[in-house]
Amino acid sequence: MTPTYDENWFASRATSGIRALKAYDPGHDVVALRNARQWLVELGSNENPYGPSPRARAAVLDALHLMHRYPDPRGAALKAALAAEHGVEPSRILLGNGSHELLMQLAQVFAGPGDDVVYPQYGFAVFALATRASSANARVAPASPDDAPMPLGHDVDALLAAITPSTKLLYIANPNNPTGTWINPASLRRFVDAVPHDVIVVVDEAYAEMADAPDYATALPLARERGNVVVTRTFSKAYALAGLRCGYLVAAEGLVAVMERVRESFNVNSLALAACEAALGDVEHLAWSRERNAEQRTALTAALAARGIRVLPSQTNFVLAHFGDTTPAIEAELLERGVILRPMGGYGLPAYSRITVGTLDENRRLLQALDEVLA
Ligand SMILES: *Cc1c(COP(=O)(O)O)cnc(C)c1O
Repeated sequence: MTPTYDENWFASRATSGIRALKAYDPGHDVVALRNARQWLVELGSNENPYGPSPRARAAVLDALHLMHRYPDPRGAALKAALAAEHGVEPSRILLGNGSHELLMQLAQVFAGPGDDVVYPQYGFAVFALATRASSANARVAPASPDDAPMPLGHDVDALLAAITPSTKLLYIANPNNPTGTWINPASLRRFVDAVPHDVIVVVDEAYAEMADAPDYATALPLARERGNVVVTRTFSKAYALAGLRCGYLVAAEGLVAVMERVRESFNVNSLALAACEAALGDVEHLAWSRERNAEQRTALTAALAARGIRVLPSQTNFVLAHFGDTTPAIEAELLERGVILRPMGGYGLPAYSRITVGTLDENRRLLQALDEVLA
């Protein structure tokens, strides 16, 4: 009998990890909404509303005349710029089609059936996706409690306790998405010191360039010191180049060499390579964008708190806000008014919404709509 070639049939032919997997949920269909409404305030995807450096735009226009050619398969110029920026050899850098691709490939390369991968509860959704896709076992470490100084954040001791002899890989995000919380440098160092030497520790630093708290520190020095520490970064957030898809990791030369074996040869396109290199050179624009974001994050946090809404501490360009039982109703009514938040049910946080910090005008629109809804 001919099978019905539907999703179920193909899932039954897929590897065990893929069978149990659900596709990444991008939130609302923003493209459809964009067409339907004029004054959309998109606060669902943590994009940077200020846009990239003008130098990045100019570099893209310059690169257009070569788009019939393949990009540099090694991304040498961008790697050299990143190497100079971080004080590492270019051989310790791997470029990805977004850091999402690198997070997936780390599990593809280093974990498989019978292996454990550890990541935190309320950690970035891609950690679970990458683990399942590689058919490895997920070991989810409980988050810190709601009344901890860093509520729902990463609990370093719980992460350590989740490590087994079968653990190959461990993911954390610092600062974390969707909570916005961060790990202080002393805890991070203590954590890395205590992780067994044969476990690869991935520190996803998608928001690092936005963090300005005195008790935040990048793990890059740890990645330089220790072979088993990997730091991932992206051009999608602070550099405002989400549409071009480019991220990178900094790790031991040997790790990069093994990851190269599965990298698609032209994974980062020529426009992205040119734009990212130019954006990296514009430190003033980055600083300006970071300051605007920090200013608006403080203002938005205060404005929500003034309305009796609890907001978690954040070192990112979003805040996690507690709306309790009324969360779905508030999200729906804000959507009616053209304001998009990110529902958190998929993260097991249905009483919260994640709100990207917008521009002054966008945040005003949000608060105005929220006041109407709460009235
Ligand atoms: C946005 C985000 C990324 C991925 O971004 P890319 O666009 O794929 O580079 C990675 N990690 C976290 C925690 C993020 O929030």
